[in-house]
Amino acid sequence: MTRSGIGYDLHRLSEGRKLIVGGVELPFDKGPVGHSDGDVLAHAICDALLGAAGLGDIGTHFPDSDPKWKGVSSLLFLEHTRKLLNERNLRIAHIDAIVITEKPKLGPHFPAMREALGKALGIEPEQINLKAKTNEGVDAIGRGEAIAAHAIATLEV
Ligand code: MG
Repeated sequence: MTRSGIGYDLHRLSEGRKLIVGGVELPFDKGPVGHSDGDVLAHAICDALLGAAGLGDIGTHFPDSDPKWKGVSSLLFLEHTRKLLNERNLRIAHIDAIVITEKPKLGPHFPAMREALGKALGIEPEQINLKAKTNEGVDAIGRGEAIAAHAIATLEV
């Protein structure tokens, strides 16, 4: 049997913040505003996995009111989620995700992101598919004010 879950996240972009996507720091003059490192891709994947497992959402497990998570790498969220799945004998079959940002170009960094995400989740990079979109200059993302990600995760029970 399989179970699926979806995840979505968006962070505002601000100057003077590091841009970390999928656990990889990208050279850019702006980065996400957030309690953790604001990694939209890691957050969307985390929510997709928790959803597929029936375990609620990222805010329940890693509340931004908890100083423990301030400034931490979001890969820690994925490592913790991996433990929750393991305890329930849920195995990650596949993850597919879209990151939406006007800039910078993400494609060249996908191999490093898949590697970092796969390591945190204990799966092969081949089990993670990443896609990049711009917002065609429309809306907050199109104006470069925000970055967003959508993810879907499939678990084997
Ligand atoms: Mg987030």
